Amino acid sequence: MKDERDICPTCGSEMTDKIIDYSDWNDGHLLVVRDVPVRECQAGGHRFFSARVARALERLFELDRQRKLEPIETMEVPVVKLELVA
Ligand SMILES: [Zn+2]
Repeated sequence: MKDERDICPTCGSEMTDKIIDYSDWNDGHLLVVRDVPVRECQAGGHRFFSARVARALERLFELDRQRKLEPIETMEVPVVKLELVA
């Protein structure tokens, strides 16, 4: 019998533990956080953080807004424009 923890509460598919690079917009720029533990479902890609990880992420984003973070690296990302073909 499967542990209830292993089933995605959103779509019901199986969940696995992963380490990801989490990124989100913060104060007008993209912030990338390396090595974030997450549980992710296989079908929908729904992601769930433990309360501890969520708090740590929140703190990083807050420190970033206060310009108190020392980045371990910076990256350039390509930007393109969507061209819809008729
Ligand atoms: Zn899901």
